[in-house]
Amino acid sequence: MRVCVIGTGYVGLVTGTCLAHIGHHVICVDNNEEKVKLMKSGQSPIFEPGLSELMSSASASGNLEFTADLAAGVAHGEILFIAVGTPPLPTGESDTRYVEAVARGIGAHLDGDYKVLVNKSTVPIGSGDWVRRIVLDGLAERQKPESSEGATGEEVVAKTVAQFDVVSNPEFLREGCAIFDTFNPDRIVLGSNSQRAMDMMIQLYGPIVDRSFAENPSLPPVPVVITDISSAEMIKYAANAFLATKISFINEVANICDRVGADVTQVAKGIGLDSRIGDKFLQAGIGWGGSCFPKDVSALVHTADDYGYEAHLLKAAVAVNEHQRLIAIEKLQQVLKILKGKTVGLLGLTFKPDTDDLRDAPSLNLIENLNRLGAKVKAYDPIVSQTGMRHGLSGVLVETDPERLADSCDALVLVTDWEQFRNLDYEKMAKLMNHPVMIDGRNFLDKKVLEAAGFQYVGIGR
Ligand code: NAD
Repeated sequence: MRVCVIGTGYVGLVTGTCLAHIGHHVICVDNNEEKVKLMKSGQSPIFEPGLSELMSSASASGNLEFTADLAAGVAHGEILFIAVGTPPLPTGESDTRYVEAVARGIGAHLDGDYKVLVNKSTVPIGSGDWVRRIVLDGLAERQKPESSEGATGEEVVAKTVAQFDVVSNPEFLREGCAIFDTFNPDRIVLGSNSQRAMDMMIQLYGPIVDRSFAENPSLPPVPVVITDISSAEMIKYAANAFLATKISFINEVANICDRVGADVTQVAKGIGLDSRIGDKFLQAGIGWGGSCFPKDVSALVHTADDYGYEAHLLKAAVAVNEHQRLIAIEKLQQVLKILKGKTVGLLGLTFKPDTDDLRDAPSLNLIENLNRLGAKVKAYDPIVSQTGMRHGLSGVLVETDPERLADSCDALVLVTDWEQFRNLDYEKMAKLMNHPVMIDGRNFLDKKVLEAAGFQYVGIGR
C-alpha cells in the first residue's frame, strides 16, 4: 500500500521504516530539512537499536523515501500517518500545535482521492473529530483550483469531504526496543467509525497481525482491538497512566521498606509472581520520566479536570513520582551530609537504556538540584558521552569513560540501567574516588560485588 508518515521522530521513523520493510511503499515527511538530508544520506537522526540497518535495506529496496515536501507525501499516500510530537504545555495539557499544522497542511493538499488519516501521535481525547475539522479548514482555505474541467473550489472541497476518514491508532512502542515492539506488538488498537478506513488499516497491518515478521511466527495472530475513536485515544492514556501508577506504587512500597527494614526487591518478587499483579514495572527506583509517562499522565489529569472530575489516584501517582525523583539526593545527604563542595558522578543520563532520549529524564532533575545544593556534577552515559549529544544539558561535565567519571568523586549515582554498567571495573573506580559511595537508583547492581569492590552501597528500598 502507499503510505505517508508525517513526522520522523522516535515513532514516525520507526513506523515508516517497519511498514516499508514489510512491503509497503512509504514516504516519510519531516519539516526539519536537516533531518531529511541526514535520512536521505542513509543515516538515522536518532539512536534506536537496529533502525539504521533497517532504514538502509528498506531504502535500497525503493520502499522508503524521505522528503520535506508535505504535498508530495500527501499525494503519494492512501494512508497518511500523523506522527508529530505532542509535548506538554506548562499547564499539563498536551500541545497539539504540531498536529494542527500537519492536519491543516493535509487539508491544503488533499486531491479528491480517498485517504485514511491516522492519528499515531498521542492526542487528547476528542482529537479525531478535531483533526477532521482542521483538515476541512485547510481545504476551505484553498484558492479556486485551476482545473481544466472548470471545477470550483467548493466542488473540489465537497468532493474531498467525502473522501477521507480519520482513524486513531495509538502507538505503544518502547524506545530502545522500538523495532521489536513494532513487529511483535501485544495488540494493535484501531479507532474509527468508518468500515472502509478500518478495512484499509487491517490490510496495512496484515503481515504484522499474522506474525510474518515476528520473532515467534507460530504465536496466534496479534489481537486487533477495534473501537470508536475516543476509546482508542483513551486506551493510550489509560495504558501509560496505569504503568506510571504501578511504578509509583512500588516506589511508595520501597519508601516504606526503607523505614521498616524490608527489601523491596524481594517484596516485588513476592507480589509479582501473583498472576493478577505480574512482575513487570515493579522495579523501585528514582521515578519515571521520559517523553511519554509524565506528559501523558498530566494530560489525562487535565482532561479529567476539563470534564469536572478530579483524578485523585493519578494526581497521587504524580506526587509520589515528584518525591521519588529526588530520593537520590536524600540518600546522598544521609551518607555525605553536606553536599556543597562535593562532587557527584552520574552513571547514565538518558531516561532509559538503549536510547539517546533525554526528554524529562530523571538525570536532569538530579543535575539541577545537586547544582542548587552546591555540588559539582559529572556524568558518563554510553550514548551521550560518545555522540557528544548535549541537548538541554547544563551544569554537568560529561566525561568520556566511567573511570574519568569516578576520579575524585564523593559519590556515584546509578541513574540509567545500561547493561554495560553491570560489569564496570568497580574496584578501580572505587580507588579513584574520594568516598566510594554508590547510590543505586535502579536497584540494578549486585550489592555484594560493589561492597567487595570497596563501595558503600545504597539501594532504593532495600
Ligand atoms: P519526536 O519529537 O521524536 O518527533 C516528532 C517529529 O515530527 C520531529 O522529527 C519533528 O521535526 C517532526 N515535525 C514536527 N512538526 C512537523 C510538521 N509540521 N511537519 C512534518 N514534521 C514535523 O516525537 P516522538 O517521540 O516520535 O513522538 C511522536 C508522538 O508519538 C507523540 O505524540 C508521542 O506522545 C507519541 N508516542 C511516543 C512514543 C515514544 O516512545 N517516543 C511512544 C508512543 C507514542
